[in-house]
Parts: sequence; structure tokens; C-alpha cells
Amino acid sequence: MASDQGKAQAAVRDLLLHIGEDPDREGLARTPIRVAEALEFMTRGYHQDPRKIINGAIFSEEGYSEMIVCKDVDFYSLCEHHLLPFMGKAHVAYLPNRRIIGLSKLARLVEIYARRLQVQERMTTQIAQTIMEVLDPLGVAVVLEAEHLCMRMRGVEKQNSWVTTSAMLGMFRDRQETRQEFMNLIRTSTR
Ligand code: ZN
Repeated sequence: MASDQGKAQAAVRDLLLHIGEDPDREGLARTPIRVAEALEFMTRGYHQDPRKIINGAIFSEEGYSEMIVCKDVDFYSLCEHHLLPFMGKAHVAYLPNRRIIGLSKLARLVEIYARRLQVQERMTTQIAQTIMEVLDPLGVAVVLEAEHLCMRMRGVEKQNSWVTTSAMLGMFRDRQETRQEFMNLIRTSTR
């Protein structure tokens, strides 16, 4: 990573020059280093394998077949169009098929996909499909609610808009009641 960071730091310095700043003034002297490090942190999901995270935490559970919901998972991501943050809450649910997963792993999964350059729609689908593939449950539902700084800081409109995306697989797609139960559960949300 070290050599890549050198290039990243040089690029940040170029950007500072491009906007008319003096990269050598005191306040900006360490900015290229900080930005390069922050960017590496915010994209560390590229180096983490979501399937491995889940695989290591699957438990057999014959007795429980109700919906499992992990809601209000905070996430911070970067939109791939502007490299500006979008952030909000993820709600993840699945219907187990004799196998369950540690709840914290659902939050980890959200984190891994958030820490990449993203579009909200794709992130939603990736979370749902990974759970479907690795855990093989009867269904998966994912809803993301997010605010995008590229909309808020750049546009004059849509200052308070939240973007909601969803992915429904298996029984969440096929059965209206299941989907509705999930939506009701996340509606009692904190917001
Ligand atoms: Zn954007």
C-alpha cells in the first residue's frame, strides 16, 4: 500500500494546486497524507471478503424459523460518481432455513460493502445476494435509507431528501405478507 499512497498523496497535491491552493502552506502541508489515509480507510472493503465473514459464523438452528431482522445499522459510504459521502441506515432481514448467522455479521456485511465506491442501488443488491448465496435462507430483505452529500452540497434542490432502495429475494419477493411484516418492523424505526 505504501507506494500507492505516495501516488495518492501526489494526486491530492495536484488537486490542491488545481483549485488554486498553495499545498505548501502550513495548514495544508499534511493534507495529502491525511486524505490518502482517509481514502484508504474509507475503501478498505475492497480488501475484505464478505463471504468469508459469513462462512465463519454460520450455526445450525433447527428450531427457529421466524424472521430475523437487524435494523438501523449505520453506514457511511462514498458515491462513485463524485467521491462524496452518502450515509444512512441499513435494515437487513432473512428467513432462516435451518441455519442462522451471528447478528453482528450482518452489520459487518453492510460495513464491507459500504467501504467501497458505491451506488446505493448496487450496495443494496450486493448485501442481499451475498446473504442469499452463502446462507441459503428462505428469503432476504434489505432496505437502505441514505442521504447523499453530492445531492445536498451540489444541488440547490432536494436539500432534505432521503433515498430509499430495497432488494427482496425469495419469500420476501414472493409473499406480500412477509414483505409487509418486514416493512412494518422497520417502520417503527428511530427516524
Ligand atoms: Zn454522487
